[in-house]
Amino acid sequence: MIQDFPPELQQFASDNYAGVCPQAWAAMEAANSGHAAAYGDDFWTARAADALRNLFETHCEVFFVFNGTAANALALSALCQSYHSVICSSVAHVETDECGAPEFFSNGSKLLVAATEQGKLTPDSVRALATGRSDLHFPKARAVTITQATETGQVYSIDEIKSLSAVCRELGLRLHMDGARFANACAALGRPPAELTWKAGVDVLCFGGTKNGMAMGEAVLFFDPALAQDFAYRCKQAGQLASKMRYLAAPWVGMLESGAWLANAAHGNACARRLAAAIERVPGVAALFPVEANSVFLRAPPRVLEGLREKGWRFYSFIGGAGRFMFAWDADPARVDALAADIAELAEAKRE
Ligand SMILES: *Cc1c(COP(=O)(O)O)cnc(C)c1O
Repeated sequence: MIQDFPPELQQFASDNYAGVCPQAWAAMEAANSGHAAAYGDDFWTARAADALRNLFETHCEVFFVFNGTAANALALSALCQSYHSVICSSVAHVETDECGAPEFFSNGSKLLVAATEQGKLTPDSVRALATGRSDLHFPKARAVTITQATETGQVYSIDEIKSLSAVCRELGLRLHMDGARFANACAALGRPPAELTWKAGVDVLCFGGTKNGMAMGEAVLFFDPALAQDFAYRCKQAGQLASKMRYLAAPWVGMLESGAWLANAAHGNACARRLAAAIERVPGVAALFPVEANSVFLRAPPRVLEGLREKGWRFYSFIGGAGRFMFAWDADPARVDALAADIAELAEAKRE
């Protein structure tokens, strides 16, 4: 279904409604000169991988894939055998939005879903699922996946990640992080990427480039190189090995070397806080979840949400009936204010 709206009017339905940020675009353009070796044996790919190792302050194994579903599914399949299971939250993207790709690419590893508050797994929920069954009639728990920032815009603190990884170590589980919005989490916490990942016990990170301002592309980082064994074959088999890899890699160079990755995320987060602050005193509406990253889930009476749609605003309402607004690298503060004004006007209008 084609959803038509004037391209000059920003919509906040998703952070991937936004285009490509100038730094990523300029790097694509710079990469688009002359010939380069194919399938990742080129200068741009080496430079992008080094920029990631530099940012994470460690010699991790780095792979570039087209999108987040592939990154997550392939990373999890590298951690599991077909008879294993992966613990995740009930609102995790791997569970709700990947069409069974993690199960498919792992040849059947089962997702074990924990009912979670605000999308965060806790050490207790991991322990309960991992130890609930130990007989061979049930798939053996092997990995835990957490989303940073979560699907509902919360951020795991470094201590929370550490306490999850401690349980993982104790129970022989590997810890995977879906970082489709990892940059937003870094901006929110104001801590270096290393502290949120390998220093806190994360084994594999899927670092999202698309929602951060690139045209496409996610980086899979293995902090334990042993886990990356044969991963290149998985990527190739899954149709995720770009032959003109320089175009997947170059935007990372632009994003990381300029610092745009963090500035973009900080801007998105600031716009979410701006909307949240603007509606704080509006009667009858509230943010359904704490606003810690770049999203606001607007809880409002149906007539307000319907009124917003009538005014032309686009948004999803797939979690808890709230309207989801996501802010990307280019979100225009004036447009955020216009949204806030429309919310206030509708909420304050007398019922007919
Ligand atoms: C957007 C997103 C992804 C990646 O989705 P793709 O459409 O496959 O790129 C993964 N995890 C989360 C939490 C996301 O929001």
